[in-house]
Amino acid sequence: MDYNQYIEIVKDYPKEGISFKDITPLMNDGKAFKSAVDEIVEFAKEKKIDIVVGPEARGFIVGCPVSYALEVGFAPVRKEGKLPREVIKVDYGLEYGQNVLTIHKDAIKPGQRVLITDDLLATGGTIEATIKLVEQLGGIVVGCAFLVELGYLDGMEKLKDYDVLTLLSY
Ligand code: IMP
Repeated sequence: MDYNQYIEIVKDYPKEGISFKDITPLMNDGKAFKSAVDEIVEFAKEKKIDIVVGPEARGFIVGCPVSYALEVGFAPVRKEGKLPREVIKVDYGLEYGQNVLTIHKDAIKPGQRVLITDDLLATGGTIEATIKLVEQLGGIVVGCAFLVELGYLDGMEKLKDYDVLTLLSY
């Protein structure tokens, strides 16, 4: 499916000079959303995934239906202070800002095969931090899947050692 028509481009959001790709129209359309999730499930199916991991908040939207379809669990990666139990954390730089991401210490068991999902790959900072968290816990990142990639920001460069699926590229 061509997902282009389901992405709205919002100029100067959240800051001047940023051309924000809004994926909510894609989620809003049942057929397009199902098709996108199905493509990620197809990509992941042969990888013997044990668990899906996604950063807040749109990584949950993409990752949870995929984990449901694969009949595996989902582990959330969240901003500092949002997870209630013991966490490990990592600092990272965003396309527009600086942040800390955390994951529960017991979310991943050593040796588990992990699929990471997010809505969009920009500079790759978020996904790189998420990979670090997973690998610190002994997880094996066997794939990363995104709805959208901003090819002009070179985030893919950070993922050259990983198997990556993106459904739409700008
Ligand atoms: P990165 O860390 O620079 O790769 O930015 C990716 C993260 O920021 C993802 O978690 C996205 O949800 C969010 N993000 C950055 N730019 C956009 C955008 O244009 N649309 C939607 N989300 C974005």
